[in-house]
Amino acid sequence: MGRDRRDAVVVGGGIAGLVAARGLADAGRDVLLLEGSPQVGGKLRSAEVAGLTVDVGAEAMLARRPEGVALAEQLGAEVVHPTAAASAIWSRGALRAMPRSLMGVPFDLDQLAASGVLSAEGVARASVETVSDVDDDVSVGDLVAARLGDEIVDRLVEPLLGGVYAGHARTLSAAAAVPQLLAMARRGGLLEQAAAVPLSTGPVFASLPGGMGRLPILVADGGGFEARTSATVRALRRTASGWSLTVGPTTHAETIEADAVVLATPASAAARLLADEMPDAAAELGGIEAASVAVVTLAFRAADVPDASFERSGFLVPPVEQRTIKASTFSFAKWGWVRDLDPDVVVLRTSLGRHGEETTLQASDDGLVRVSLADLAAMAGITAAPLDTHVQRWGGALPQYAVGHVDRVARIRSAVAGVPGLAVCGAAYDGVGIPAVIGSARRAVASLTQAE
Ligand SMILES: Cc1cc2nc3c(=O)[nH]c(=O)nc-3n(C[C@H](O)[C@H](O)[C@H](O)COP(=O)(O)OP(=O)(O)OC[C@H]3O[C@@H](n4cnc5c(N)ncnc54)[C@H](O)[C@@H]3O)c2cc1C
Repeated sequence: MGRDRRDAVVVGGGIAGLVAARGLADAGRDVLLLEGSPQVGGKLRSAEVAGLTVDVGAEAMLARRPEGVALAEQLGAEVVHPTAAASAIWSRGALRAMPRSLMGVPFDLDQLAASGVLSAEGVARASVETVSDVDDDVSVGDLVAARLGDEIVDRLVEPLLGGVYAGHARTLSAAAAVPQLLAMARRGGLLEQAAAVPLSTGPVFASLPGGMGRLPILVADGGGFEARTSATVRALRRTASGWSLTVGPTTHAETIEADAVVLATPASAAARLLADEMPDAAAELGGIEAASVAVVTLAFRAADVPDASFERSGFLVPPVEQRTIKASTFSFAKWGWVRDLDPDVVVLRTSLGRHGEETTLQASDDGLVRVSLADLAAMAGITAAPLDTHVQRWGGALPQYAVGHVDRVARIRSAVAGVPGLAVCGAAYDGVGIPAVIGSARRAVASLTQAE
């Protein structure tokens, strides 16, 4: 059994843990990062499909929040934006242009009507808002349904939230997932305020040439900290002078001691690690559920794909349509860097899995490829046999921000703040998107370095 002592140990080598480790190292700490899986990066990961290296996890970051783009630029990476290809939605038997909206609340009712996403009755209902008082927190679906009717929730809000959270509109918290919407609802009519939102300028999303999978590698390289992979932390204990971590398999367990610990794991792992020392916070963390999803990447001969697909960045599918895939991203049309990898090959992906619907994923990899191909044929006319495929399963990957999440996180943070030398960060807390997760890591670093 070995012994080791560090200023700080970061548990979890996703983007949150990597950014936290780098931040602590920049503040002069001797930092060890421990990652349970064989590679760092967490949900940011690349793989080869038909010899081309593409993202099989997250594939974009919001450019409207500064943290992600700023980090890439600090690390000397070029930042790229999607092409002008437009996104679509499969609704009422056809692919339809995605109307502009704030998580389903339309900016322009004429555009919504022209899109054909809703029936005439659905548009009529959505055009006459029932303005009512809003509770402290409410689900996004209940909020929008009360104001604009059920159909807009089923056909627009659901697929948009399904794309980001793999969750359901009627359970995800408005305060946590779309706080702007809740703030607007408190001020008055959603339609009126949405219509006044100025047309956006500048790109909404960004990535790096080569994909988001490059970002964690750039953070780790030359980050001034040691990263160990295949190093699962099994137990965490407070000691007189800090923390003691038990790492690795029980037969070869190692003890590492640290002045400070950052837990940058998903909520379920943080709950397990804090169960003995902070049972109340652990119970709160354990109450954050997570959705499992799968990403199926398919490579086709470019000549086999309908021309119309080149104009489309992909499409979302509302659950009410009862297809199996919930979205497809036409990576070859969305990203210039993907298209440039090989002019004769196009790469696209489907995503499957929503919270509480794990049965969708209870199929073999071949089975997931088969249902993806069937849905792509029916919805996008892509009928060719793929050149190559790749299936990436993401078990328990997307935390569900249920109604009350903001208060739950406040309780967790207040408990953690009362324990010297402890911080938490990652997708479980203040946003699942990459910029928000980077922001939470910076906050964890600040809480440790400013406490001294
Ligand atoms: C399929 C998919 C697509 C997505 N697409 C986008 C997108 O396009 N844009 C966007 O902004 N966001 C996207 N997201 C969300 C975003 O990628 C994640 O929220 C974010 O990357 C999470 O980062 P993290 O560091 O908090 O957690 P993770 O990436 O989950 O990292 C946590 C790490 O902790 C490790 N770990 C767990 N337990 C232990 C332990 N006991 N000891 C040691 N290590 C442990 C895990 O192995 C893991 O590597 C997507 C997510 C998924 C699943």
